[in-house]
Amino acid sequence: MSFPENQKQSIHHVVIIGGGFGGLYAAQTLAKAPVKVTLIDKRNFHVFQPLLYQVATGGLSPADISSPLRGILRHNKNTEILMGEVKNIDPQKQTVQLKYREISYDSLIVATGANHQYFGHEEWADKAPGLKTIEDALEMRRRIFIAFESAEKETDPKKREAWLTFAIIGGGPAGVELAGALAEIAHGTLTEDFRNINTKDAKIILIQSSDRILPSYAPLLSAQAQASLEQLGVTVLTGTRVTQMNNQMITVRHSDEFESIKARTVLWTAGMKASPMAQHLKECTGAELDKAGRVIVDRNFNIPGNENIFVIGDVANYAHQDGKPLPGVASVAMQSGKYVANLIKSLLQGKTISPFQYKDWGSLAVIGKHAAVVEMGFLKLSGFLAWAFWMFIHVFYLLEFDNKLIVMIQWAWSYFTMDKGARLITTPGEHPTIQLEEHDENLAQSPGLSQTIETVLLTEENAVVKNQDSNPTKSYVISNSGLD
Ligand SMILES: Cc1cc2nc3c(=O)[nH]c(=O)nc-3n(C[C@H](O)[C@H](O)[C@H](O)COP(=O)(O)OP(=O)(O)OC[C@H]3O[C@@H](n4cnc5c(N)ncnc54)[C@H](O)[C@@H]3O)c2cc1C
Repeated sequence: MSFPENQKQSIHHVVIIGGGFGGLYAAQTLAKAPVKVTLIDKRNFHVFQPLLYQVATGGLSPADISSPLRGILRHNKNTEILMGEVKNIDPQKQTVQLKYREISYDSLIVATGANHQYFGHEEWADKAPGLKTIEDALEMRRRIFIAFESAEKETDPKKREAWLTFAIIGGGPAGVELAGALAEIAHGTLTEDFRNINTKDAKIILIQSSDRILPSYAPLLSAQAQASLEQLGVTVLTGTRVTQMNNQMITVRHSDEFESIKARTVLWTAGMKASPMAQHLKECTGAELDKAGRVIVDRNFNIPGNENIFVIGDVANYAHQDGKPLPGVASVAMQSGKYVANLIKSLLQGKTISPFQYKDWGSLAVIGKHAAVVEMGFLKLSGFLAWAFWMFIHVFYLLEFDNKLIVMIQWAWSYFTMDKGARLITTPGEHPTIQLEEHDENLAQSPGLSQTIETVLLTEENAVVKNQDSNPTKSYVISNSGLD
C-alpha cells in the first residue's frame, strides 16, 4: 500500500526510532496495516548482534551479519526509512527532531537499544573496548590481530607474553562466546602462521565477578560451559573483579587479594545500560528509569501518562509477568515490537488485544565450534548437539532478514578448515590507544602499575600494594575504586 498525497493528512503515522530487532519487528508487523510508518535509524543497516563476536575474531565479515534496512523493508510500501539520529522528542507537539527535520507522529515506538556499562569507570572505555556495534567488533579485531603481530616482532620474552595475554571482562554469553572463539584462533587457526611465536602460548583469561560464568543459566550448564572453555585453553576466573587498568596491565581482586595481570589486550563484555534516549524520555515525559537506565513501562509498553509513546526491547524495563524485568535479549525485543504494532492496529479499529505474554524460547551460548549450552524450559543441552541447535537457530534468523546463504557456506568452510578469513587489521577505530608501531615508553601509565605488583595487604577499606621493582619501598594505597 502506498499513500496518495491527499490521504497523508488523515492517515495514522507511526514513527519507529531504531532498526534493531524491536523496531524491525514492529515495522514488519505494520507492513500491511492502513498506517504510514517512518523508521529512523542512525545507521542504514540492521546488525545481528549475537554474531558480533565472530566479526571481532575474524570468522565473519561485517556484511555477513548486517543487512541494509532499505533491503529488509523494500516490500513494505507503507514504510519510509530515514537515516539520522533522533536527539529530541516533543510529546506535546508529537514530534521527533532529526538534525535538519522535524517529523510529526501519531504513535511513537522507541526501540533504541542499549550500550556498554563500565560501572562508573568510563575511563576504561578506550582501554577495554566493548562489543555492541560493528565498529566495536572491528576495533576488537584490530586489537586482537595487532597483539599477535606485535608479539611476533617483540624480542623481550616478558613483553611478548603480555602481547599474548588477552583478558575478557564479563562472563555472560558474549564473554563466553568471545573467549571460546579467541582460544580457537590462538590454539588452532594461527598456529602455522607465525615464525617467532607459538600462538598456542597465548593466554586467554575470562574474568567474571559472580561465582560462576553464565549466571542466568542453570548451574549445571555454567559448569559445563566452564569445562568446555577450559578444554579450549581458557583460564576462567570467577568471583573476580577488575579494580584498575592501564594499557599494559589490569589489576583484579579475588575476595581479599589483588593480583596484577600483564595483558596488552583487554576486551569488555560486562554490563549494559539503556541508550541515552531513555534519559531524554525521562526529561520530556517524566518517565521513571531503573538502575540500568531503562524506561519503566506499563503493561502495554507505554510510558505511564503517554498512551501514544511505546518503549520496547533493550531500552525498556517490562516487569509485568513475574515481577522481574524481562531480559535484554533479541526475542524480547522482537515480541515486544510485534505486540505494540498489533496493539496500534487494534486500537485504530477500536478493539483491544490480550495483554502481552512473553514466550521464552530459551537461551543459548556457543563455546568454540564444537560445544554450546542451550536452556529451553526443562530442556538443557550441552556439547555438540547444543552447538548444532545454536547454528540452526542463528542461521534461521539470519535468513529471515536477508539471504545469508553465504554465511552458512562460510561457516561450513571454516568449520572444516579452521580458517578465519576475515582476520584483517584495518584503520583505527574510535579509541586507537593500541597501535601497531608503538613503544611501551609512549604509553600512558598509572603510577606504579607498570611494574609487577606482588604483595597485597588488605585492611577494612584499603589495600597496600608493594611493588617488586627497583624501588621496593614505594607503596600505593588502593581504595575500592582504584588507586588513590
Ligand atoms: C555481543 C552481543 C551478543 C548478543 N547475543 C545474543 C544472543 O545470543 N541471543 C539473544 O537473544 N540476544 C543477544 N544479544 C542481545 C540482543 O542483541 C539485544 O537484546 C537486541 O539487539 C535488542 O534489540 P533492540 O531492538 O532493543 O535494540 P538494538 O538491536 O540494539 O537496536 C537499536 C537500534 O537503534 C538505533 N538507535 C539508537 N539510538 C538511536 C537514535 N537516537 N536515533 C536513531 N537510531 C538510534 C541503533 O542504531 C540500532 O540500530 C546480544 C547482544 C550483544 C551486544
